[in-house]
Order: sequence, then C-alpha cells, then structure tokens
Amino acid sequence: MSDTNQRKRRNKRSKLNMKRIVMVALVAIIVVGGIGGTAIYFGIIAPAMAAAELENQKTLDEYAAKYTELQPRIANDKFNDEEKQAVSAAETTFKTALDNKDVNAVPTSYTSLETTVVTAEKRISNDVAAASMTDYQDVFNMLKNHDLSDFTADEEAAVQANIAKMQAVLDNKQVDLLETTINELAASIDAHYMVENDVAITYKKGLIIANKNNCMPSSYAPGESAQAAVAFSQMAADAANEGLSLNDFSTYRSYSGQKSLYDRYVAADGQEAADRYSSRPGCSEHQTGLAFDIGGSNSAAWAETTFDDTEEAIWLANNAYKYGFILRYPPGKESVTGYMYESWHYRYVGDIAKTIYDSGKTLEEYLEVE
Ligand SMILES: [Zn+2]
Repeated sequence: MSDTNQRKRRNKRSKLNMKRIVMVALVAIIVVGGIGGTAIYFGIIAPAMAAAELENQKTLDEYAAKYTELQPRIANDKFNDEEKQAVSAAETTFKTALDNKDVNAVPTSYTSLETTVVTAEKRISNDVAAASMTDYQDVFNMLKNHDLSDFTADEEAAVQANIAKMQAVLDNKQVDLLETTINELAASIDAHYMVENDVAITYKKGLIIANKNNCMPSSYAPGESAQAAVAFSQMAADAANEGLSLNDFSTYRSYSGQKSLYDRYVAADGQEAADRYSSRPGCSEHQTGLAFDIGGSNSAAWAETTFDDTEEAIWLANNAYKYGFILRYPPGKESVTGYMYESWHYRYVGDIAKTIYDSGKTLEEYLEVE
C-alpha cells in the first residue's frame, strides 16, 4: 500500500467518525432537550399556569359574591327611571364580564356598577333629607309661635333654649338631630299644660300623636289651641265668602270630658262598637286641643255620615289643608287610623298640612307611626 492510499483511508475513517459524533450529539440534544423541556413545562410552566388560573377563579368568585351582596341594593324602587337604566346597563356589563370569565373586565365593571348604585342612593338620601328639612321647618314655624305669655319664667326659658337649639340644627342642616331636637321643643311647650307626667306623650316630627296606641296623661290639659282657632276663623271666613257656613262644634275635650262621653257610648252601644267611633279617655285627639269637629249649616248632620256629601264637607276636603288642617280619618283607612271615616274631624298641624295632603297619606302613614 502506498503512503498516499493509507492517508486516504485514514481520512475516510475520520470523516465517518465525525459524522457519527454529530449524529449522536444531535440525537442527544433532541432527547435531552425534549426531556428538559418537558421537565421545565411540568416543573415550572404548568404549575405557574395552574396557579394563575386558580387566582383568576378566586377573583371571579370574589366578585360574584360581592355582586350577590349588592343585589338587594340594585333593586331599589326609589331609583328614578334614569338611575334604573344606568344601574341596569352597568349590571349587564358586569354580568357579561363574569359569564365570560374576563378577569380584567370583572373588577372594573363591578366598581362601575357599585358606583352607579351608590350615586343613586346618595341622590335619594339627599332628597329625603331636603324633604325632612322642609317638614321640620314647617312644624318649627308653628311651635316657635306658640303663645308663652302665661308660662312661668323657667318654662319660658326652657322653651326659648329649645327654640334656639332647633334653629341652630336647621341652620346647620344637622339632619340627624332634627327629630330629637324638635320633639324636645314640643315636649317643653307641653310641659306647661301638664300637672304630672304619668304617661309619656308621643311626638313625631314635633307633632303630638294621639291615637289608640299613643295616649296622653290624664293631667295633660292644653285647652283649645290658639293657633288652630285663628286658622279655623280664617278658614270659616273664606268659606263664608263662598256662601258656606262652617261651625267648629267640638274642639278641645278634657280627659274627664272624654271619659264621660266614652262611658256613655259604651253603655249605649257596647265597648266594641264604641271603640270604632270614640276614643278611650287619654287617647282622644280632642284632648290635644288641635282636633276640630267641623259641621255645616245643618246641625242635624254634625258628626253624622249625612255630612259626608254636603257642600261644606267637600269644600273642607279640598281646602282645609291650606289653613293647616288635615282630614284625620279618611275613608278606607280604618285599619291605619283605628277609626271609621269621619268627614268632620280635622287635625291642625300647621304648614306641613299641604305636604301631608299632597302625599295622600294619613297622619300615621306620613309620620310612620302606628
Ligand atoms: Zn272629632
């Protein structure tokens, strides 16, 4: 064999070896790479993906729970049409995001829904507060003009202090203090008319409540309200100009006066029947001095159902509120007021009468008392 041939053969062998090495290396890379990739996938990528998915599901569940909690507030029938529409649109957006498990859209759309609800709620509470302020201002106008001339110096000082307090509450719009402050003022006025306070008088928005559930002490004897009497005179004068005669045939009734009346009714008709049209002593609105039984020219119809369809009764129903009087026992409200319809019984409440009249509610319903 020549040297040349030997060299050629050696070269061929080494070339073959190189090919083999490259092949093995490639296979090794593929196998090892595959194993490594799989290892990376199952060791790092897969758990990370599972954790993220879990995290997403947690977020979705969290917002689904929040939504369940918010739902009663979404269905608020005090929302106006515009608010209802806005809330409904925001709710649809949120529900769509939740259904699509869109983790990015769920929190933002929930926040938007909640904000829409909160904004509408705020608008309502502001409206309620504003209406409350008007109601309290109306009653305050009546109370602060109460005639204190026969009050003792101490009584008058107590009332004046409460008037100043109430004025400050109104000026500063301290909505949460309105109710207690005006009731304290009313009570400080009524203290003058009480010998002993054996039964607490119930006030709401500064107005005395006298009904079957809220009675007065036997010693509470305010007499006929001077303010109500003035208002009635004005009303009677205006009605007279229209050719109608109004007579306040029964106004203030003392505890003992009511007692003898009630006892007489019970003796005649039995207690059950008497309770439908007469009050037990201490519970008659007539004892407040603010209840006026009003009749027309025909005295035979006074305190009778025959008064219901008279011109005077119709005029009163349509106009009494302008003078501060409300129909106290309207038809169909016996279950609320405790009394059958009395077309003649009016209660003086002052300027708030118009608001109550416009609401179409009974005094109990308007003041939310039983
Ligand atoms: Zn009456």
